Amino acid sequence: MSTLSEAELRSRITGRMESGLLPLAREVKLFAGYGHSEICDACGQEIPQQAVLYEIELIRQQERPMVLSMHRPCFDVWLECSQRGMSPSDGQACLQL
Ligand SMILES: [Zn+2]
Repeated sequence: MSTLSEAELRSRITGRMESGLLPLAREVKLFAGYGHSEICDACGQEIPQQAVLYEIELIRQQERPMVLSMHRPCFDVWLECSQRGMSPSDGQACLQL
């Protein structure tokens, strides 16, 4: 399925968060299901049909909600990195776990 190592996954997700492609996981609604070949918003790889898919709806004040699709392990990393905050030093800490 995924060819990314844990370290590569962490570095990719942290990079996307730092560049603003991925927001922080703050107020979210979570829906679980199975993939239908979506592209994961965290790692950029396809979510195959038999894999668990998380759909994440981000609640944003005065804006339309944003919906992301992620693999389950990608969601876990994203959530964890979000909770640690994303200053550059914290981003490094997130990578080192
Ligand atoms: Zn992914």
